[in-house]
Amino acid sequence: MNNTQKELKLVDRVSAQNYKPLPVVLSHGEGIWVTDVDGNRYIDMLSGYSSLNQGHRHPKIIKALKDQADRLTLSSRAFHNDKMGVFLEKLCSLTGYEKALPMNSGVEAVETAIKAARKWAKEERGIEEGEIIVFENNFHGRSITAVSFSSEQSYRSGFGPFTPGFVIVPYGDIDAVKKAISKKTIAILFEPIQGEGGIKIPVDGFFKGLREICDKNKILMIADEIQTGLGRTGKMLAIQHENVRPDIVCLGKAISGGVYPVSAIVCDDFIMKVFTPGVHGSTYGGNPLGAAVAIAALDVIVEENLCEKSLELGKYFVDKLRAIKCSAIKEIRGRGLFIGIEFKPEIGKVFPICEELMKKGLICKDTKNIIIRMAPPLVITREEIDHALEQIKEVFENIKI
Ligand SMILES: *Cc1c(COP(=O)(O)O)cnc(C)c1O
Repeated sequence: MNNTQKELKLVDRVSAQNYKPLPVVLSHGEGIWVTDVDGNRYIDMLSGYSSLNQGHRHPKIIKALKDQADRLTLSSRAFHNDKMGVFLEKLCSLTGYEKALPMNSGVEAVETAIKAARKWAKEERGIEEGEIIVFENNFHGRSITAVSFSSEQSYRSGFGPFTPGFVIVPYGDIDAVKKAISKKTIAILFEPIQGEGGIKIPVDGFFKGLREICDKNKILMIADEIQTGLGRTGKMLAIQHENVRPDIVCLGKAISGGVYPVSAIVCDDFIMKVFTPGVHGSTYGGNPLGAAVAIAALDVIVEENLCEKSLELGKYFVDKLRAIKCSAIKEIRGRGLFIGIEFKPEIGKVFPICEELMKKGLICKDTKNIIIRMAPPLVITREEIDHALEQIKEVFENIKI
């Protein structure tokens, strides 16, 4: 038995089986590269679902982690620490909002945004138990509230009773949104590109339409940029491709470069002021270790021009992918280095294709059974993309349909 088999046997015995990973056991990472326990090297094409935009173990982020670990790791929110303010100021100035509230996981940021919207609606509009419009195929995390408004049966089944107050409409359908608006509507929560939903990009003008509806009806526009934000799609926020400014933005994942769990919401003070002492909180939210890591992670995005790199290399990658002759492919779409390759339904599942890519040294993830997501760390070079493309080409040209 090799080391991989040993580990697979161990986790099979002791781990919850709530994931079905590729049979690869990673032990080291650097930049875009990861190494498994038997010494094989791979390019990471998933990047921790876009947590690793800065690459694995970016030296600047690791240094910040180590330095801060030697000084202070948790202050508790009953006291101040000397890292949180710097972190939140950086986050506000990068995203263009007045205030930020730090949490830990992405789903906590989403929960925080929902709480902010509900309380704002109560205080500003006198609406109790208001409704939030969300979209089919959404992914906002795994809490009871987040799965309450999921349209994916496997995320929900058996977990009721659910949180009420959500209306689901088709993604990208502005008329359906208009029809769903009622006196009780307080917010619209959306992903600028649906990541888990299969790299779905709505038609041009959809988000401008949402903004108009929100302004007209005094409704909050909430963007979940946990996966799409911080450079992944070629802009700091994916919604900036549409020149639209949401009222609340949820961030997570790449905010700490895959080093430590940090999330946050950003918004202006007219919303954030609903959170008064005692109203909301988190033990680890805003802790100095996470804040120090996030400061470095945000600096790397700016200093290394990761937004511009993603935009340019993403276009290059997509053009070259489209040039591959493979009759099994239905569509290739993406923004920046956030790319989905959708196969024809006849192919069944793409998991076996991911296994073939793994043998060639690329680890990728299937989404919605039929889509392969290509989202390498944004520090990837053109030469490394060319190398990846050679492997992809060999696998794709051998797919029989
Ligand atoms: C990953 C993700 C979340 C949840 O983040 P966790 O850190 O796993 O809780 C929420 N929304 C979107 C769009 C995501 O991609």
